[in-house]
Amino acid sequence: MSEPLDLYGVVGHPVAHSWSPFIHSMFARQTGERLTYRLYDVPPERFRSHVLEFASSGGRGLNVTVPHKLAAAQLAGESSERARVAGAANTLTFTGGLVIADNTDGVGLVRDLTVNLGLVLENRRILIAGAGGAARGVVGPLLGQSPVEIIVAGRTAERARALAQQFESLGPVRGCALEEISLGSFDLIVNATSASLAGEVPELPETAVGPVTTCYDMAYSRTETPFVRWAQERGCARAVQGWGMLVEQAAESFQIWRGVRPDTIPVLTLLERGAPLPPR
Ligand code: NDP
Repeated sequence: MSEPLDLYGVVGHPVAHSWSPFIHSMFARQTGERLTYRLYDVPPERFRSHVLEFASSGGRGLNVTVPHKLAAAQLAGESSERARVAGAANTLTFTGGLVIADNTDGVGLVRDLTVNLGLVLENRRILIAGAGGAARGVVGPLLGQSPVEIIVAGRTAERARALAQQFESLGPVRGCALEEISLGSFDLIVNATSASLAGEVPELPETAVGPVTTCYDMAYSRTETPFVRWAQERGCARAVQGWGMLVEQAAESFQIWRGVRPDTIPVLTLLERGAPLPPR
């Protein structure tokens, strides 16, 4: 009899829309790793017990998505520096009775921006719209690219200010309300709000977008997202959806779990070209 495959998955609520099973099965095929990857739709009140049961029944690792990233960081017995700094985790590894948390969102975004899209972030002005779990994961790694400033702007100003304050020791970052964003265009605008999911766009000032601005929507869709459309209509240099971040953060998780780095470009190309929907 053949050995059972190592079990991984993604836990979220909702999670049915997730491309992670498709991406990880492509990575597994490409690298020859023997694993299976499942979807787990788990509400907040069952998150902790689900994770602990998954681990005690032999599960090897979980990706964590909305709305559990903060709870995942709190549940872990050990955390990587980047999960600790972010206070949020998207990758859990179960080994030797321990739950180890990591956060690969930031490195995934930075890799997509700097490697796949060829952007230079040093000395650039960056605006992050939104102050939720995803924003929390990317501020530190973006500051690591030595931008001249990062502004975190939120619909709930206090949340944006509190988030920025947490990262002040790492570089020039400040938080404000969306309507307080200073005049002048940015080199990079990252939409880290979940507005696209409701067909909406965060209320950013028109002046934020100029002819050199790259607009990056963390959200992704088989059609244009509202933010991408909004940015193009305002004459930005480039408007991109978050497919690259999605694939790069997954590759980083895969490497943590399996010790081998998959090639992201073939998977990203498939997704951007419109790969068939994953089987349910
Ligand atoms: P959260 O629920 O933690 O945070 C959402 C944020 O969006 C909050 O700050 C909220 O504001 C803000 N927001 C929601 N609607 C609006 C609106 N209409 N106008 C202005 N602000 C709004 O979600 P996450 O941070 O986990 O995820 C954010 C987005 O990033 C999602 O679309 C998610 O799918 C995407 N994502 C993509 C990844 C990728 O790999 N491409 C990885 C991770 C996330 P308030 O604070 O006022 O409630």
